[in-house]
Amino acid sequence: MIEPLPTGSTIGILGGGQLGRMLAVAASRLGLRVHIFEPGAQPPAGDVAHAVTTAPYEDAAALKAFAEACSVVTYEFENIPTAALDVIEEIVPIRPGREALRISQDRLVEKTFLQDLGLTVAPFADVGDAAALDDAIARIGTPSILKTRRFGYDGKGQVRLNDTTAPADALAEMRGAPAILEGFVDFSIEVSVIAARGPGGEVACYDPGENVHRKGILHTTTVPAQLSASQRTDAVLLAAKVLNALDYVGVLGVELFVTPQGLIVNEIAPRVHNSGHWTQNGCVVDQFEQHIRAIAGWPLGDGARHADVVMENLIGADMDRVPDLAREPRTALHLYGKAEVKPGRKMGHVNRISG
Ligand code: AMP
Repeated sequence: MIEPLPTGSTIGILGGGQLGRMLAVAASRLGLRVHIFEPGAQPPAGDVAHAVTTAPYEDAAALKAFAEACSVVTYEFENIPTAALDVIEEIVPIRPGREALRISQDRLVEKTFLQDLGLTVAPFADVGDAAALDDAIARIGTPSILKTRRFGYDGKGQVRLNDTTAPADALAEMRGAPAILEGFVDFSIEVSVIAARGPGGEVACYDPGENVHRKGILHTTTVPAQLSASQRTDAVLLAAKVLNALDYVGVLGVELFVTPQGLIVNEIAPRVHNSGHWTQNGCVVDQFEQHIRAIAGWPLGDGARHADVVMENLIGADMDRVPDLAREPRTALHLYGKAEVKPGRKMGHVNRISG
């Protein structure tokens, strides 16, 4: 068990993007403070935080001072340098724990972990060089997808292979980075489960959401997803299996492919997740508050869904639609306060509720 943090305590968040911002808002509603650590200037989370440290992850002195100002530290993205975590963990607990980070930072380690748990993943093979790629293609075949093992997000660092792709060209796109080849999954839909595990090991899952991507970026999440009752149960049970195996504390996103043969796990994200933003307007307690509750040692909240929701991401020039969106009934607007609009940049989202 973890002693619940009293109100007024400070939670540290590594990363100052929109996820950090929405975590900070949720923490403030519970009477908690947030301290953001972010290398970039003017982080979106900084607008709503009690304190901000602007320093690189290599700055041990800044990390030490940050950790000393916090009662617990969490993170809003996976790719935090290990050395930075070492400095922080000497001083204050990191939740979720580091095993979840270690596993989710590397697709090969992640797939192996999931498979060892008895979950189904796409066929995969380690691709260190051209010979390994030839072997992998011989075993897995095409269509398949070559992905960098690390630092991939929103479809970046991925190339699809079909039977006319020259393996050397695909490998060149990895720019020398270690990669894995994954068999292409012929899925009917993509869904995700946002799951939480509390300090005493209790697990609570949100209803699975159905995700549609555009250009590798999440476009919409629709809840409820088109799943049978048994698929819904499977999705929740497998998310709980992952949480328990990691002795996890906090919110975790599990992305799944739905196929006639069952659910296939694509990836896990040890943090609040874009496909869980619908919970802000569809649930009694949303994913951000749930994460803060868990890492602060509070009881998990009631994640029951009280509405059907379609979440739509606002990407780049979608910001031009904000005046119209602001007039729409039954639509909640969530903007991230990012100064500069860039193509492909997540600027905000809307939650349209019905039911
Ligand atoms: P990822 O970065 O691994 O989440 O992949 C981004 C998107 O690419 C996924 O949401 C899927 O739409 C698609 N994708 C990734 N891996 C596969 C796969 N093995 N088979 C089919 N589609 C995939």
